[in-house]
Amino acid sequence: MIDPQTVQQILDAADIVDVVSDFVSLKRRGANWIGLCPFHNDRNPSFYVSRAKGICKCFSCGEGGSAVNFIMKHEQLSYPEALRWLARKYHIDIAERELTDEERQAKSEREAMLMLNEWACQYFIKQLKDTQQGREVGLTYFNERGFNQTSLDKFRLGYSNSQFDAFYRAATLKGFNRDLLFSTGLCVDDGHGGGKDRFRGRVMFPIINLADKVIGFGGRTLSHDKQVAKYVNSPESIIYNKSNELYGLYQARRDITRQDKCFIVEGYADVISMHQAGFTNVIAASGTALTEGQIHAIRRFTNNVTEMFDGDAAGIHAALRGVDMLLTEGFNIKVLRLPPEDDPDSFARSHNATEIQQFIDENETDFIRFKANILLSDAQNDPIKRTEAITDVVKSIACIPSSILRSVYAKECSAIFGIGEDVLLREINKFVRYNRQKRQQDRDREKAAQQRAAQSQGATPSAEAGAPTAADAPTLDTTSATPASSARVEKAKSKSSDIQIQERAVIRLIIKYGYCLLPATPEHDTTTVTQHIANELELDDMSFSHPVYKQIFDLARQVLPTFEQDFQQFSAEVQTKKQQYITSQMQQDGDVNFEDMDSAALIHALERKQKAVEAQATARERKQIKEYRSNYLEKLLCSHIDDAVRNLACEMAAEPYQLSKIHTQFATIVDEIDRLPQLVDEMIYNWKNALVEELIRQVKEQIGNASSEQQIVLMQQLQEYYELRRQLATLIGDRVVTP
Ligand SMILES: [Zn+2]
Repeated sequence: MIDPQTVQQILDAADIVDVVSDFVSLKRRGANWIGLCPFHNDRNPSFYVSRAKGICKCFSCGEGGSAVNFIMKHEQLSYPEALRWLARKYHIDIAERELTDEERQAKSEREAMLMLNEWACQYFIKQLKDTQQGREVGLTYFNERGFNQTSLDKFRLGYSNSQFDAFYRAATLKGFNRDLLFSTGLCVDDGHGGGKDRFRGRVMFPIINLADKVIGFGGRTLSHDKQVAKYVNSPESIIYNKSNELYGLYQARRDITRQDKCFIVEGYADVISMHQAGFTNVIAASGTALTEGQIHAIRRFTNNVTEMFDGDAAGIHAALRGVDMLLTEGFNIKVLRLPPEDDPDSFARSHNATEIQQFIDENETDFIRFKANILLSDAQNDPIKRTEAITDVVKSIACIPSSILRSVYAKECSAIFGIGEDVLLREINKFVRYNRQKRQQDRDREKAAQQRAAQSQGATPSAEAGAPTAADAPTLDTTSATPASSARVEKAKSKSSDIQIQERAVIRLIIKYGYCLLPATPEHDTTTVTQHIANELELDDMSFSHPVYKQIFDLARQVLPTFEQDFQQFSAEVQTKKQQYITSQMQQDGDVNFEDMDSAALIHALERKQKAVEAQATARERKQIKEYRSNYLEKLLCSHIDDAVRNLACEMAAEPYQLSKIHTQFATIVDEIDRLPQLVDEMIYNWKNALVEELIRQVKEQIGNASSEQQIVLMQQLQEYYELRRQLATLIGDRVVTP
């Protein structure tokens, strides 16, 4: 359990841009940051991150939330686990007690496996450093490879003792149960009720995922026995899906983003040597061709990939495999062929950083060009082989999504092959059409399967009317995409759910603008949105019927005094900064050359400048205050410990615009915050109106079944409700100015 102060400390420290950047390459766009959504196969950036609001949101698939939510979803963690993750990232200490045996067993299998792997990783490191065998065998090997201490630490390299069951005994002594040792693959059943170590006598390369968790190991033997496999890997398990992992991606991710490029090599040692040589954007894909999962992982960080491969014939042909999928996904691919006697590991060790960079600059080749040349030289003068080579290259070019790029390659390859450009282009287009048809067929099939699944489950109504669902908003421009569909949804709803819709609209205003100020009117003084709504509800003895809305509303009112205190302090700071800003601006000469002026002109110019600077400073101040007021509550709710509160707040905070009727009719939309006074009253009115409509409906229903005496009473009541409705209409007519 984590105490509330520490939770707050973690939430304060967790900067959403920083947290998301660990997994997604973000680019600045205005006040926000955007990137490719990590939750669906995103081709165009749909994932928005707002630092001011502390939330992220995908406008394509709808995933998102606060930093905690993001980590929960991305890493599949519970709320407390996500907090721990963030605490670790920001070096915030959480005192955690040792787990009891029962608790250790009760933890989910996944967690238990990760815990064991982490412990194993540390165990192997200790073996390497602190045992005689580890130093003499393991460390000697790493030293021979030239790995320095920084590399050993960075990649958490270790050693597994050659004894039959050294690890097995140590782990069981520590309380890890046998099943876990087998399910992670660290040990194998010996058939006599014990276990033997899978990795005995090997140097250990832990495989670390993007969340910095050890999900598996690769072990290299140091034995010269030909019978012994050179490399052994952890078996696939619920935590380790070999085909989705890229070795070194965790260590390389930031530099891949920074350089907007990554190098792909083949083995663990290649990655480590390259990193040690200063090339820290290098990763390895174990196995021959990249899988879809791996491509998806790379694309979060960059679109530019260079394949680095051994200069021998086997290396060359390995490099040609599996690249079409990268091309299809719109990657820019280059190849770097090393000298025939080298692999990336030996190359990195035998050259310094400058030499390596120079070699890259001189030898990096475009993939298509490389492939065309290699296949052509393989084919020599064999016409059939030549045709095959051309078709092969044409197929690759046809995978490229950009038609401009395709025609550039057609031109280039026509020169290489000595074939007419138009002939090549025709062939390319044939495959483009074929690919397109195939994709369409796949999509149709998928759609049909989904429809069948939906029909068998019965129609599922959307949880909240008016909320833009993922299906309603396939594009970023939600304002144009949602109104029509939300109108459709609203029409389909019964009257009583209309009340819920109106309640939702009001609670949304509280979440987004609860502590913003409404200017004074004849009816009330300057007040916050929250206070104003509270007053209005009290007036008609109303309250939220939805339990979560009520909880949020109560929270907003409870926290208001704390906010006022914090705001006092904040606005004092802003004032000080404003004065400092004015002073510093006045001290700078700027464009005006004061020296040449006479004293009257000088005074005049200074006065003018003062006014301009002050106006500027005031505008800045207003903006800061407005932001502080509108973000305070939203941030608080979006990281709230209660799942229902947090999820609802995040969902609403990310909705770009209120989907009211006004917006459906007019294309231009005024920033919501600028028309808050009207909006708040309009929403309250709509809610009250929905309540009155519901009362009218109920009374009408009763009249039908009532005796004639009761009918008279009910008719009177009905008249009162009609009057109420009329009054509301006048009231709102006076107050709400529709654009
Ligand atoms: Zn998405």
